[in-house]
Amino acid sequence: MAAVAGSNIVAFKSAAISRKFGDRKAGHFRHQWSPVSVQPRPCVGLQSRRSSSFASSGVRAQVATVEQTSAETAQKVEAPVVIVTGASRGIGKAVALTLGKAGCKVLVNYARSSKEAEEVCKEIEEYGGQALTFGGDVSKEADVESMIKTAIDAWGTVDILINNAGITRDTLLMRMKKSQWQDVIDLNLTGVFLCTQAAAKIMMKKRKGKIINIASVVGLVGNVGQANYSAAKAGVIGLTKTVAKEYASRNINVNAIAPGFIASDMTAKLSDDIEKKILETIPLGRYGQPEEVAGLVEFLALNPAANYITGQVLTIDGGMVM
Ligand code: NAP
Repeated sequence: MAAVAGSNIVAFKSAAISRKFGDRKAGHFRHQWSPVSVQPRPCVGLQSRRSSSFASSGVRAQVATVEQTSAETAQKVEAPVVIVTGASRGIGKAVALTLGKAGCKVLVNYARSSKEAEEVCKEIEEYGGQALTFGGDVSKEADVESMIKTAIDAWGTVDILINNAGITRDTLLMRMKKSQWQDVIDLNLTGVFLCTQAAAKIMMKKRKGKIINIASVVGLVGNVGQANYSAAKAGVIGLTKTVAKEYASRNINVNAIAPGFIASDMTAKLSDDIEKKILETIPLGRYGQPEEVAGLVEFLALNPAANYITGQVLTIDGGMVM
């Protein structure tokens, strides 16, 4: 949930979130995944060729094949390949780090924060994982195609998709401009559609995959000042259930997570007064942390106990909506 203009939620207080991992190395994923043939150079930064807002000279970095011993290859070929959209900051960053730490190969997508994305990538590598960055706008079909191709060129497949990228353009309905409506729908809903369609194409051939959409509790209950955002998130929930039904026979699980207030840049500017009022509506009396959402994503993505869960919306909101 994000800042809401014209309602009780105006600006969130800044909250810097830093994740401290233990000293375990990567390799704790629990699934067996399909072999891949090409390994990327670590922390390779790729940018969409066609996105004028993000790239000027096309793909900037090269993906290189890395020589490996057969033992290394055996360890790495089974690592799930994950795409996390909007992984440079906030919840997406926590998700990328958690899955990277768990042994996944992680494509860290971002829109503008290339430095932050590189940092995420480096942190994953410090835990023995593999990651690459991809700068691109996931509301644009060409960028999405390029992102999926990047993962396939590097690692041969896509096993898990986390649709996390999202924005807010909050204002009351009577003041909302068409562009504010459209920007949010384009990224928060159409972006999820585009990424899901592209990734599902790969997953259905393998008859295996996990898709996790980061929705919001406002998609369930609405929120003053967020007609665009709550409509997009409600759309994501409907999309999740439909895709779950369409792809269940292909062994692809599709679920949504609906966070409440999570400390991140998106919710970083509330005054103390407003924050106090919000906290009164949360039974657990605090904001959630991105790492808590990431833990739920990890469960749905990697834990075999989640294999029988599909088409569900899991709220993680300190009891705010029940
Ligand atoms: P955030 O801190 O603002 O981070 C947003 C991420 O999305 C950044 O990595 C950003 O990249 C990326 N992004 C923005 N526009 C993009 C585009 N066109 N293409 C690709 N990536 C793009 O947000 P957050 O709070 O972590 O929220 C993450 C998700 O959780 C969103 O879907 C949000 O709606 C949902 N959510 C958040 C809360 C909350 O309280 N925080 C509650 C419920 C749901 P750059 O860094 O390059 O801009």
